[in-house]
Amino acid sequence: MEEEIQETDKQEETNYQNMSEKEWKQRLTAEQYQILRNKSTDRAFTGPFVGNKATGIYVCAGCGLELFLSDTKFDSNSGWPSFFQTINQDNVGLVIDRTHGMTREEVICKRCLGHLGHVFNDGPAPTGLRYCINGTSLKFNEIVNDIHTNT
Ligand code: FE
Repeated sequence: MEEEIQETDKQEETNYQNMSEKEWKQRLTAEQYQILRNKSTDRAFTGPFVGNKATGIYVCAGCGLELFLSDTKFDSNSGWPSFFQTINQDNVGLVIDRTHGMTREEVICKRCLGHLGHVFNDGPAPTGLRYCINGTSLKFNEIVNDIHTNT
């Protein structure tokens, strides 16, 4: 756990918004680069975490910023990991996206400006929102409850 905290501190010193495309290509896999930097989309039902039900925190694959908690994930049957709430409104940005003949709200990471997915108004209570996120833009930090092993 201590190592993780130090790693987060180190990441916060990096200015992700000034990073060159060359640096991003070195930092990310080809798949991550296509989604996060080129706003591509995972093919439905093929990306990571669609069916993941483990307890933990979803973070940005670009910069490690915490984005979504597993207890706000729900089965949307869309083929993409779906959440009804962000971990913190300050960590996630919304941008009007008028590409592909539609007007949608794009969801981006506030720290590195990486493309995550889109948000729609057909989600479940309590928010009614559906954050439809490319699993490739995320990493998952599983929280293992070890209370019982410590007693
Ligand atoms: Fe990020």
